[in-house]
Amino acid sequence: MHCMRIRTALSARLDGEELPPDLTDRRLDGHLSGCADCRQWQARARALKAETGRAAAHTDGGTASVEALLGRLRSGSVPG
Ligand SMILES: [Zn+2]
Repeated sequence: MHCMRIRTALSARLDGEELPPDLTDRRLDGHLSGCADCRQWQARARALKAETGRAAAHTDGGTASVEALLGRLRSGSVPG
């Protein structure tokens, strides 16, 4: 199982989207239990999602603030 496919499905799961038919919750969790990289990726994706959710709640410009946050993450200057 390729990590990229797993992460795509993990991202969909975090967003509450439908999983690909061959990637069930069980398979995702099974992969996570054996793949530290994907566990870390999911933790970061989850944190990012929580962060963008908070940012969107503070402004009406949800999309713009998400892009701003992603830009800050890339440049490594996230406060806190
Ligand atoms: Zn993996």
